[in-house]
Amino acid sequence: MTNPTFEPADRITGLPPYLFAELDRRIAAKRAEGADVISFGVGDPDFPTPPHVVEAMHKAIDDPETHHYPSYAGLPELREAIATWMEKRFGTKLDPSTEVLPTWGSKEGVVHLPWALLGEGDIALWADPGYPPYDVGTRLAQATPVSLPLRGENGFLPDFDEITADVRERTKLMWLNYPGNPTGATCELDVFERAVEFGRANGAVIAHDAAYSEITYDSYVAPSILQAQGASEVAVELHSFSKSFNMTGWRIGWICGSAPVIEALGRLKTNLDSGVFTAIQRAAIAGLEGPTDFLDAQLAVFAKRRDIAVEGLKDAGLAAWTPKGSFYLWVPVPDGETSASFASKLLDEAAVVVAPGNGYGEHGEGYVRFSLTLADDRLEEGIERIRKIL
Ligand SMILES: *Cc1c(COP(=O)(O)O)cnc(C)c1O
Repeated sequence: MTNPTFEPADRITGLPPYLFAELDRRIAAKRAEGADVISFGVGDPDFPTPPHVVEAMHKAIDDPETHHYPSYAGLPELREAIATWMEKRFGTKLDPSTEVLPTWGSKEGVVHLPWALLGEGDIALWADPGYPPYDVGTRLAQATPVSLPLRGENGFLPDFDEITADVRERTKLMWLNYPGNPTGATCELDVFERAVEFGRANGAVIAHDAAYSEITYDSYVAPSILQAQGASEVAVELHSFSKSFNMTGWRIGWICGSAPVIEALGRLKTNLDSGVFTAIQRAAIAGLEGPTDFLDAQLAVFAKRRDIAVEGLKDAGLAAWTPKGSFYLWVPVPDGETSASFASKLLDEAAVVVAPGNGYGEHGEGYVRFSLTLADDRLEEGIERIRKIL
């Protein structure tokens, strides 16, 4: 008998290395030495899911009706509730039956959208630095990811004029994300208007990841790309319950906008998954229709942490700046350091974990990301430690 050696597929071995793996190993080693490690690494709200959502889940799970296969396209009541929420929030009118589709969290939508839209040779432009699944989802679909650089001097907004003619020609999809992870940058509607124009002129779908649309400060209100003129033809927007409702573990979000795009993704998903657990969909409705005061209280906490951290980091000599959205600080590393060397230094000398910026794309090099999703006293101590070593 031969013993054939297992080899994963090329699409797996060809994936970019997990950039945080080495850092994870070093954090574990540091903890094993007995160090009290403070992590600004993960972006997961440190607040529980609001009680009205949890209660709706309890009720829903007791109803045996929810124990069967869900509808592929999502509960009509959920799609209605999403369309109503979008209209209340952004003034956009959506047809719940053709322009709204629930997803298993927005990451699932992000990774599967290229499968529905792209083939070999097609390009997906992605705003770099950005959420790694824009790049990885494109690679998995055997298409070509191309960076659309976001630079500090432009407020981390894309420059569409920089896209060369041969890239334009092959671009079928563009990823944007405001308020942005990892930069915390925000934009006004004009950026979406120019993106939609680009899409219409070049036959490309513009996908806006709006995961942080509700995580904003200082009376800034984030726009939707669907408010842009002509957006319904070429644009889709991905929303998530993860950050706005502290539901990262529940795995539910939605995509809405251009009906043919939604139809294509829906056709793929019919063949892939069997919809989101009905009880979770019912809980999501309770979230969309319920009170939002929990979020206001939480945003005040994030804003306070943001201000303390920015102040402390500036004191430490770092060029920290104050974002109006997301719960991240995107901080340039000191001269002579790289993202990785500075993240290592903070871990080695202060037992503080930050995410090295190069993990978010080549244009993330030279930065580190601080997530504000840790308790106030830990945050303050972490910043204090950094001040001491710098
Ligand atoms: C957290 C995050 C999401 C949310 O993903 P879910 O799959 O809905 O949990 C999407 N996009 C970005 C940029 C994020 O940071």
